[in-house]
Amino acid sequence: MDRSGRWPTGATRVVGVIGDPVAHSLSPVLHNAAFAALGLDWVYVAFPVKRGEVASALSGVEALGIEGLSVTMPHKSAVAELLADCSEVARRLGSVNTVRRRGGSLFGESTDGEGFLAWLGGEAGFEVADRRCVVLGAGGAGRAVAMALADAGASEVVVVNRDRARGQAAAALAGPVGRTGELDEAKAAHLVVNATPVGMAGVAGGGGRASLLSPAQLRAGQTVVDLVYHPSVTPLMEAAAEAGASGHNGLGMLVHQAALAFTHWTGREAPVEVMTDAVRRALSG
Ligand code: NAP
Repeated sequence: MDRSGRWPTGATRVVGVIGDPVAHSLSPVLHNAAFAALGLDWVYVAFPVKRGEVASALSGVEALGIEGLSVTMPHKSAVAELLADCSEVARRLGSVNTVRRRGGSLFGESTDGEGFLAWLGGEAGFEVADRRCVVLGAGGAGRAVAMALADAGASEVVVVNRDRARGQAAAALAGPVGRTGELDEAKAAHLVVNATPVGMAGVAGGGGRASLLSPAQLRAGQTVVDLVYHPSVTPLMEAAAEAGASGHNGLGMLVHQAALAFTHWTGREAPVEVMTDAVRRALSG
């Protein structure tokens, strides 16, 4: 039964998330709240899928008539390799976070970068064109953000990462404006994005109350975004506040990448406020 009190029927359309683990994913909360708000007879469920089982899972999506998928850790690159058709962004990143049906077959999208930019230019009011940006981390999120910032016209995208080769690969996605750099370069940037799990509640080794940057490494007037959203005020955001910078958590990106996926599946504009409220309630509960 969904939150509006309806049971699924034979006509209910199904979407879901594949990942491992997925039991604590917030995606079912976000999407089921949106379906209920728009009165859509759709349901979103979590499918735990082990490494090595992704091809079978995609065949299952085809066979069962599932409308689409979100894809989370650790399957984003495996899905990009398995799907014959992907958006240009997903192909360049080698990463798919959304699967939808197109012309009878499955099509891969990556909405992380676009979702980040939608939130950044909208609710955060930050104009990327001609701005210097520093991205901490070069995993899936760091790569998507670095490429999106360059595509949006940033004058410089500096990737700071522990593993040098991964940092260089992420910087390369930003093209001529991309390069690797050091933490101390954050102070000169207009925008600083933390795309590592440092600061996330429950993360061992560098997590908890940790921040990669101290207030002395930040400055007034810059925008600092932590893609971590639990806790809602992260140690990096506290450091940003102490330095007089404007700090944000990753809730906006989470909601906007999901909103884009929602539109890919349903063809409807996503109720972003409803999704934001639902995820905030889930995180505070
Ligand atoms: P990932 O692919 O595993 O990449 C993790 C990155 O963080 C790597 O570059 C890694 O560096 C770096 N890192 C990990 N621990 C570190 C430490 N102690 N010190 C310095 N660097 C460290 O993960 P991801 O998918 O990119 O996600 C990264 C973070 O972003 C997570 O907290 C995730 O929850 C968050 N995220 C948020 C959203 C959103 O919508 N808000 C979306 C995606 C991800 P090495 O390469 O050197 O190992």
